[in-house]
Amino acid sequence: MTRERTISCPDCGESNKVRAPDDVHDTVSLDEKLAKAKGEGTIIKKIYECEDCIYTISLYWYKPKI
Ligand SMILES: [Zn+2]
Repeated sequence: MTRERTISCPDCGESNKVRAPDDVHDTVSLDEKLAKAKGEGTIIKKIYECEDCIYTISLYWYKPKI
C-alpha cells in the first residue's frame, strides 16, 4: 500500500484521505507551482473529487527534494 495523505477541500474544507500513486511520489500539493518548487523529477497530476461536495480537486504528487 502506498502512503495515505489528508488534504482539505479548497471549496468546503472537508478532509479527504488520498493515496499516493506510487512509493516515490508520496507527497501531495494542491498547488502545481509549490510541487515544482519543493519536488524533484516528475510531478504526477491526479484529479480527485471531494467526498463531501464533489468539488474537483487537482492533486500534484511529487518526490520531495532531500
Ligand atoms: Zn468539498
